Amino acid sequence: MILAARETLTQVHTEFKPGHSVIRQIYLQLLGVTSRMAWKCLMFQNKARPKVVFTMWQHLHARLLTADRLLKWGIVVEPICVLCSERDETKENLFVSCPFMIQIWTRIFTWLEWNGQSWRSWDQYMDWTIAHAKGKSQKTILFKIVFAEVNMLCG
Ligand SMILES: [Zn+2]
Repeated sequence: MILAARETLTQVHTEFKPGHSVIRQIYLQLLGVTSRMAWKCLMFQNKARPKVVFTMWQHLHARLLTADRLLKWGIVVEPICVLCSERDETKENLFVSCPFMIQIWTRIFTWLEWNGQSWRSWDQYMDWTIAHAKGKSQKTILFKIVFAEVNMLCG
């Protein structure tokens, strides 16, 4: 038990902010609060429809009911992605590698006049998305709405 705890603590960044409780900082890091906070810019003042923003919130909390999750719970569903009918329906396929979604994103980037982007992993996809959801430019406001609407396709 103590060894397991020690191993867990080595995963925590050792640079702590002065003036804040070290225990609290460790606790928040173990909870993953930092990464959870990173996507709040997508939610903040997002002018998409409330239902769409809620679906995006579920997606950002990894609570979307994708086929792979339903199957793990013993619920019988078709495992194939409903958008492309080519790959298994997982979070990674839906947002990172689904050919149908890639086509949608390519058109959106063309429309926004942003250079096309391809992601190789979920983390890469989220990092890029969060970086482009910060700021107050018209394109950023538009991207946040479009991002939420695209999530609705998968929700
Ligand atoms: Zn797909």
